[in-house]
Order: sequence, then structure tokens, then C-alpha cells
Amino acid sequence: MSVVTRFAPSPTGYLHIGGARTALFNWLFARHHGGSFLLRIEDTDRKRSTPEAIQAILDGLKWLGLEWDAPPTYQSKRLERHAEVAYQLLADGNAYRCYATQDELEAMREQARKEGRPIKYDGRWRDRDPAEAPDDITPCIRIRMPQDGSTTLNDRVQGEVTVDNAQLDDMVILRQDGTPTYNLSVVVDDYDMGITDVIRGDDHLTNAFKQAKVYALLGWQAPAFAHIPLIHGPDGAKMSKRHGAVGVETYRDQGYLPEAMRNYLLRLGWGHGDLEIVSTEKAIELFDLDGVGKSAARFDFDKLDNFNGHYMRQADDTRLTDLVQERLEAELGRELTGDDRSRLLAGMDGLKQRAKTLRDLSESAQFYVQRPKQLTPKADKQLSDDARARLGKLAERLAEVSNWNQDLLESETRDFAEGLDLGLGKVAQPLRAALTGSTVSPGIFEVMEVLGRQETLARLRAAAEADDTGDTGTGDAD
Ligand code: GLU
Repeated sequence: MSVVTRFAPSPTGYLHIGGARTALFNWLFARHHGGSFLLRIEDTDRKRSTPEAIQAILDGLKWLGLEWDAPPTYQSKRLERHAEVAYQLLADGNAYRCYATQDELEAMREQARKEGRPIKYDGRWRDRDPAEAPDDITPCIRIRMPQDGSTTLNDRVQGEVTVDNAQLDDMVILRQDGTPTYNLSVVVDDYDMGITDVIRGDDHLTNAFKQAKVYALLGWQAPAFAHIPLIHGPDGAKMSKRHGAVGVETYRDQGYLPEAMRNYLLRLGWGHGDLEIVSTEKAIELFDLDGVGKSAARFDFDKLDNFNGHYMRQADDTRLTDLVQERLEAELGRELTGDDRSRLLAGMDGLKQRAKTLRDLSESAQFYVQRPKQLTPKADKQLSDDARARLGKLAERLAEVSNWNQDLLESETRDFAEGLDLGLGKVAQPLRAALTGSTVSPGIFEVMEVLGRQETLARLRAAAEADDTGDTGTGDAD
């Protein structure tokens, strides 16, 4: 039987990091087995499910590259089918009508609280003659759970997990208003969608017992279950916003690449030997449930940054230039010119070696498309009056070079420094400060080549003409 997995988010908020990981594991499992990955939007809570949240989930999955293989199923459109199955259970004697009033239920809860035991419906309508049903009460439908023995689940992550059946409640499957409850809907939908493997957070483990019973009573084959431990924050506490439990779009906006995110999410709970960097292709080849750990994974921003740096260095320069261009245009409020773009592209290989995120990358690329408006404090220190005067002289000399390429620029600058009996750094650091506004940048001769003769000389002359009283000396000199 071909593998069919699904991701079944409730669209009450963004696609958070835990949901994204669940989706990834289901997607990888399906791809590994040559099966399908389906999407089901569990939007039965009409008050809390919003179209914006649904869109955010679809966008987040698309951004992560986790494409689904059929149009999404919307649970809210299947309520009639769920009710039909509830009536089937009723007709077969596996469910019954319950006429308990709100007051009775409250009294049961109160009693349980007093006795310090879990709240459980006491089964008062389980075997009662329906002829005794009161006329003035609309019943709900409850499932007839086995009361003796125990139920064992063979979870593919948690192992064998057993509960006493006495703990299983005769849960409501169809409310008084005719709407189905969650554990019925999930079973019917998974069954109708042909789901073979349910992979989800271990907060659903207790539901799995109930769902397994519903399958059994219906005579349906249950899917295999795998409940993965939740993600914790770096401090070991449950993941919260403070820990990065934000929507994946926030990671996108902060400048993470989807492939880095995929690799990071994969390692957040799955391992294979000591592999850290696992391309998506490799992950599809290797992914299995044996590699999923039993204890909660801890979120680690430094690791995510390292992964992202790695994938940025590997990324194609044209793609990075597109992404940086988009960011710079938004930031600068103007379209980049063809020249701007050519410089970005030419400088991209040097720029991407240092950046951890696209945000860093765009920031560090700005000097290629506009003269630095401000010097960093360290760069400012480099531009003493003497240093500025030297840059003026250097500009005169470089104006004469026959060929504007980095090797030639480097040897000219070295000669120039030697002529003044100075180490290269004494010239190169002010040079860097004047050209980039910073003391950190790609190789300075590469920067000069990419900026081109005219722009480099203009920036050097502007620096030479300014003094060190706070004028950046890098303003537009046209
Ligand atoms: N809709 C549920 C949730 O978002 C998931 C249900 C399931 O995977 O079975 O937690």
C-alpha cells in the first residue's frame, strides 16, 4: 500500500515552528516512500479559524517548499460525513444517545473533583432503555468505549504505550447541536483520505488511544501512529514566543533561507549518526522514524544561524542578488538601477562569505548601491586627517592605473604604502572605511574592482576633502 501522510493544522494562528517541523516530517516520510503528502485544514472551530490564518499556513508551507499532492481538504466541509459515521456507530450499537443534562454533567464533574479523580462521564445512559428518554432534552451521541482490559498502541516513536480501558471516557462524538467532535472528525477524515501514517506532536498521544478505539469499533484499519516530542526553548521550558515560537514568516522576514530552515527543523528531533548538514535530497533518502528522538529537542538560534550561513554560502549568486535586491529596494524606498544590480551580483560571492542571514547580507551590501551615509565608530577612527590626506594621494595614483582589476589595485596600493614606509593596513583600513563606511567588508581590492574606477575614486576624493570632525566625507560628490 502506498504511503499517504498528512499535515492537519488548526488555522487559529500562524504556522509556528512546531507545526512546520510536523509538516516537514510528514512530507519527508511521504517523499522517502514515494507516497503522497496531503493537507487538511482543521477549521471546525469557526470562531477561531480565520482566512488569514489559513493563508499564512499555505504561504508558510509553500515558502518551506513542502508542497502537498492534492487540493487541501477543509474539515468544515465534511461535517455531514462525520455525522453520518456517528449514526452508523449508533445503528451498530457502538454508540448511544445520552440525555444527561448540563446540571447532571456538572454534578459528575464536581464529584470527581471532590474525590480527586479524573473527570469522566459515568455511563448513565450507556445501557439505559431509550424508552426512558425524556422528551424535552435533545441528546448527544456518545461512543461505547470498552471498559475492561487495556489498549496498547505501538507508536513508532514512543514505543509500546498502554492505557487501561477504564480510563477511556464514553466521549461525545456528536454534540446536541449535531456537530461532530474532534476525535470523530479526525478518524473519519484520516480514513477517507486514505492516510496510512499519522505523524504529529506527542500532545496528541492521548487522543490516539481514543481514535484507535473509534477505528476498531468501525471495523476500519487504523493508520500507524508516530508521536514526536514537542520542541522546547533553549532553557528547556516549553517553547514560547520568547523562544522563537513565532510564525515561519517571521523567519523568512529575518532572512533565513527555506533550505536552511528545513535542515534545521529536520535536526530538531531527527538524527542520523553525526550528520548535521543534510541537504533536502539527502534527507528524503535517509528519513525514517527510527531517527526521531524520544526526548524534546531544544531550539538553538546559533545553530540555525550557522546552518543559514552555510546555505547562503552555497546559494547561487543570482538568487541571492534577487533576494537582496528586494530587501534593499524596500529599505531604500527606490528601485535599484542596472548598475546597482551588476555590482551586487559581482560582489555577491565576497559578501555571502560573511553573512548569517539575508538581513545581514543586505545590510553589508548597501555600500555597493549607495555611498555610506554614516561611518561606524570604528571606521570613523580610521579616518584621521592624515589618513584622509593619504587617501587623496592614493586616489591620484590609482587614477592612473591602466587596468581596474584587483590584482593591479593591490600592487599599486602596496607600493604606495611602502613608499610612505607604512604597513599595508595603515592604508587599507582607512580605504575600507572610506569606501564601505565600515571596518568589515569583503576583500578591499575586490570591493574596489566591483565599485569601479569612477565610484571608487569619487569616494576616496570625498573622504580626502572632508575632515574628521564628523563629516562622513562619503556624501554624494556629484
Ligand atoms: N489539528 C490538530 C492540531 O493542529 C492536529 C490533529 C492531528 O494531527 O491529528 O494540533
